[in-house]
Amino acid sequence: MNHDLIDGVPVLWADAPGPLEATLIFACGARDETLRTLGVTHLIEHLAMSTLPRLHHDHNASVDLSLTQFTCSGRPEQVADFLTRVCTALGDLPLGRVDQEAGVLAAEDGRVADPQTAELLSHRYGAQGPGLAAYRGPGPDRIPLEAVRETVTRYFHRTNATLVLTGPPPAGLRLPLPAGTRPDRTATQPVLHHGPSWRQEQVPGPGLALHGDLEDFALALATKVLAERLRETVRHQHGLSYEVDGGVVFTGPGQGERTICLDAREGQEQKVAELLWAETLRLAREGMTEQELAEEVAAAREAWEDPRSIPYELGEAAADALLGESYLDAPTRLAAMAAVTPEQARQALAAALGTALVVVPCEVELDLRQLDGTPLPQQHCPGGVTELPSGGQVFRPPLTERLRYSAARKTKLVVTDTGLHFQEPDGTVHHVAYSEVAAVEMNGPGRVVFGRNTCLVPAIADLFADLGPAVRAIDAAVPAELRYPASAFRPVD
Ligand SMILES: [Zn+2]
Repeated sequence: MNHDLIDGVPVLWADAPGPLEATLIFACGARDETLRTLGVTHLIEHLAMSTLPRLHHDHNASVDLSLTQFTCSGRPEQVADFLTRVCTALGDLPLGRVDQEAGVLAAEDGRVADPQTAELLSHRYGAQGPGLAAYRGPGPDRIPLEAVRETVTRYFHRTNATLVLTGPPPAGLRLPLPAGTRPDRTATQPVLHHGPSWRQEQVPGPGLALHGDLEDFALALATKVLAERLRETVRHQHGLSYEVDGGVVFTGPGQGERTICLDAREGQEQKVAELLWAETLRLAREGMTEQELAEEVAAAREAWEDPRSIPYELGEAAADALLGESYLDAPTRLAAMAAVTPEQARQALAAALGTALVVVPCEVELDLRQLDGTPLPQQHCPGGVTELPSGGQVFRPPLTERLRYSAARKTKLVVTDTGLHFQEPDGTVHHVAYSEVAAVEMNGPGRVVFGRNTCLVPAIADLFADLGPAVRAIDAAVPAELRYPASAFRPVD
């Protein structure tokens, strides 16, 4: 791996076969946004790309949880021209195009994670940081221009960027990015829910997340073996799933999530969820064979020896440097994996089960046991409140509704000096303290209040009568900058 510095931007390169590939990486992703500004990085990426003329070589850009990447491949002079244009655009964004690009974003599926992973992240971290993966945000037409300016100034500069190349830098390459201050990456991402628990969500199949140090190679191998066993049982033996996905999500200094997500044949969601948990427990209890571990190490070696892995390795090294993590090269990782014994991998998995989060489709009802035989608790609501407060102003559905429907008789909104409580027809109580409000959507005359704890309070006219005092209380208690009119791109629901 070769290191250069061009116009103050670190450049990492190594020779690889094929045309020159370039990726200009910025350490800025959805994780750096807030619920109120969600989508602002994607909007910046689109604004920058909108300045490019028609290009005939491959080029693209993307935003995920942690990174924004501008990629292209082609002849060296084409690559140089693309990179210079992107840098120039980021230093002088065409803010006049915000409305058009917001429309383009509304048409694009801009999710940063698959549905199961997104829900698992929001359970773990709440409506902030990586947990934002599960949210749609205010909509691209409701992102404040001030947030665009602030985000581009804070993250899109030469001190928060790295260029990776699959060959030497093109002659005369310029990277005219503005100067800036390196963002502080030392703060630990707060965890909302440590687990273990299971929860119903609108997901196509079950998913499992384990929290831990991403450089724990024993746990890494155990989850790889688990995914392989699930492929064997759920897919090949029972024919219930097509895809078994093992994922890794970096969520902050020294921590992350290892996930396993499965799809399920229609009507088989329950069975797939039960098999996922049963195989996980079996592996944590009985362990794995030397042969199973050796297979995973061999697979990793095969991948690393393939020259097509060079851009990936360069990208990993660049991302680790930008995010303040230590990069371990492939031989080091391979040696660490090869040193793991089956018993170490089993113990790592058994310990990680204390952090297990399971998400299943809404219709699935589980009765699961943990390793020690105690039930795996179901999490209904993270608000930590099970009853309505005794004081406060109570709002209810219109009398005509209450007379006709028992659900309407149980639905309540209680407004106190410190926050909101919302009781669903099934008795579940959600609570959002005013100090914990992440965003407020103005929904006609009503308000939908999003809590950082992932609770949502729909103070809307479709549900409650005579809401005026509730809306006035919310508007008085929550900072105005957290409030926005519902997106014009979405039907009011
Ligand atoms: Zn709740």
